[in-house]
Amino acid sequence: MKLETAGSSNFWGDQPYSVKRHGVTITNCDSEPVQTPGCTQSHGALLVLRTTDLVILQASENCERWLGQAPARVLGSAVGLVLGQAQEELIRAALAGDATADNPIYVTTLSADAGRSALDVIVHVSGGQVVVELEAAHANAENAPDYFLQLKKAIARLQVNDSLLGYCQAVSREVRALTGFDRVMVYRFHEDDHGEVFAEDARAGLAPWLGLHYPATDIPQPARDIFLKLWIRPVPEVGAELFELEPLLNPETGQPLDMTYCALRGPSVMYTEYLQNMGVRGGLTMAIRRDGELWGLIACHHYSAPMALPYDLRAACEFLAQVCSLQLRAAEDRDQLIYRLKISGVHQLLVAYAAQRADLAALLDGKPSLLDGIEAGGAAVFYHGNWSVVGHTPSSAQLAELVEWLHARPEFGESGLYATECLSRDYAPAVAFAGVASGVLAVPLSLARRSFLLWFRPEVIRTIAWGGNPHEKPLVLGPHGPRLTPRKSFELFEESVRLCSRPWQRAETDSARELLPLLLDMAVNQAERLADLNAELTRSNEDLDAFAYVASHDLKEPLRGIHKYAHQLLEEASLASEEQRRKLEGMVRLTLRMDSLLDSLLHFSRVGRAPLELTSVDLSQVVSEALEMVDARRSERPTHIVLSRAMPTVRCDRSRMREIFMNLISNAVKYSDQAERQVELGYLAPDEPVDRTAAPPSAAGQTIFFVRDDGIGIAESHRERIFNMFSRLHGRDAYGGGTGAGLAIVKKLVERHGGQIWLVSAVGVGSTFYFTLGKAEP
Ligand code: ADP
Repeated sequence: MKLETAGSSNFWGDQPYSVKRHGVTITNCDSEPVQTPGCTQSHGALLVLRTTDLVILQASENCERWLGQAPARVLGSAVGLVLGQAQEELIRAALAGDATADNPIYVTTLSADAGRSALDVIVHVSGGQVVVELEAAHANAENAPDYFLQLKKAIARLQVNDSLLGYCQAVSREVRALTGFDRVMVYRFHEDDHGEVFAEDARAGLAPWLGLHYPATDIPQPARDIFLKLWIRPVPEVGAELFELEPLLNPETGQPLDMTYCALRGPSVMYTEYLQNMGVRGGLTMAIRRDGELWGLIACHHYSAPMALPYDLRAACEFLAQVCSLQLRAAEDRDQLIYRLKISGVHQLLVAYAAQRADLAALLDGKPSLLDGIEAGGAAVFYHGNWSVVGHTPSSAQLAELVEWLHARPEFGESGLYATECLSRDYAPAVAFAGVASGVLAVPLSLARRSFLLWFRPEVIRTIAWGGNPHEKPLVLGPHGPRLTPRKSFELFEESVRLCSRPWQRAETDSARELLPLLLDMAVNQAERLADLNAELTRSNEDLDAFAYVASHDLKEPLRGIHKYAHQLLEEASLASEEQRRKLEGMVRLTLRMDSLLDSLLHFSRVGRAPLELTSVDLSQVVSEALEMVDARRSERPTHIVLSRAMPTVRCDRSRMREIFMNLISNAVKYSDQAERQVELGYLAPDEPVDRTAAPPSAAGQTIFFVRDDGIGIAESHRERIFNMFSRLHGRDAYGGGTGAGLAIVKKLVERHGGQIWLVSAVGVGSTFYFTLGKAEP
């Protein structure tokens, strides 16, 4: 049979709903009409009165047990005839004066009578009906403790706790001290609605349930909703008989009674069995709310006997639940604030370290590291194509794939970051590393370069298992089989949260977002410093060029004088001895060499100073001009020069390009011991393969020109040196002589064009000089 809800009436088929008759099962408990169960608990009787004349319209079927008269006898009578005229007057006065709408008010206690025990009379108005609840009065009302005083002291003690956990622990202690329950727990709902025993105070000898988690389905939605209306819910005798209202529907309105606020409201079958499965004989639940939502519950269990609390103690608990809701909010806010400040402190330190070292890896490899801020199992930085990691993270290969997937996430555009507690929901391969990274918080440093800061959280089951073993004390299964007992519920909870981590809190996502501008500031500062250094370097290079020019230019004049003078002396040979003559000849040779060195220096400085004349140049022509000019020098031995294919047309300085090719070709011809020499000239288009081991990264995507020979080769240790000014690897006149300026000039010219030069060489096999042109400066 299915439960149907029509308007505000609830029907089971064609009958009005009664929890006693039509108990709801686990499959339809989410639509159970918990507010209109049609039944009361056994610890008192309930009467529904017409507002105008206080005539009894409905009565619980157990009213004979409490009032000595069956419902049939009281229905239609004025309440004064059943409870006494004086009581009717008190009820009238309460209805007139007190705020009784949805708020049960204690009116009086009916003293014990023949065949009837003393009864507390509690009245409120629900949906336009007057509801009178008659509960067994507290046995010793005169000696009842001063609950107000106890409450006042409890609240004062609660106030000294400044952390959320400390506060909740104190709440469980105080509520247990006030009420005497065997176990009091603060049960906290998580973002996904599952619950956790967050704090607990229990009688000695009871197994602790602290840290147990329960699936969201353990507390159905209607039960949660009702706690947004009322503060406390007593079930003094779990599993006791339920009593229907007679009649079930109000004879005047045809509606079921809304019993939300009735202390006697009959509990749902589910709830009763839930409590029974845990061995609870008397229970009380209090609501903790935050910002209009149910934050959690204070659950009180009594295992040794039923547990009824008198009205004033319940009122004290109700008050305590309200105070708790307010103070807990403050404690939670304070916790969050402290956490936020802690994270922000760590992040600022980290940025300072990273700036000092000019390296983002400093975020991870020092003390503190990123893991000392936001709580996570691992963290990683992907920057400039490199991974740095700390803690537990996926492997480098998994991280590389993750980043490829991450960089296209739309969330970055919307909120600046991507945060999930269940990565595998969005990204299936994450199942493979759920143990370390079920949850991911990702902040992009640069989307274009796929640079990220990442935090990882493990699957929550692992986190809980680290905290303690929830399987220690198995409990006997209850009537609902494998659920609604602490152990079984925990297993179901485990199932429901597979592949999920603890969710990321607001304080964490906010702090991660705030870290980004700090890091970018750092990067900008560094870029500025680099720019300064660069400017300084350019300045000193210019100074050097200027010096070289002045020096070489001005030295030439006196050198010419010395040369002339030495020459004259030589001509007047009769004046000199043989030795003096030899010395004079040496002097003339030296001045000539010095002159050619100065020419090279002057040329080198001009190469750095004169502006480039950039035009579109057919390099095939340039190469043939260069070959013609070199030709004269290669007459002694046969040389085969091969141009592998026509050279492209590029934008460059024509005469400088000719100089580059001339220098490289003449070296290729010069530095060889072969009887016949082989020289190859050519280029590689951007997509053609080249030996990338030696190529600089900036050569990627560029046309690469080369000059290859089968000459003597250059040892690895000399490959940098040969580009220095006046650096020669051989004796002055070996291999046709030279000043050692050629490659320095070539390098300078290539760099002026925005390119780079490098070589691949093997001694005795030959060398290949490669160069690019890049984007030339004018
Ligand atoms: P120079 O040729 O005037 O000595 P370079 O600057 O052109 O000056 O070359 C510097 C040195 O590099 C040369 O002295 C030679 O030792 C070496 N070198 C240059 N090109 C080659 C080459 N193709 N094969 C072998 N060694 C070379």
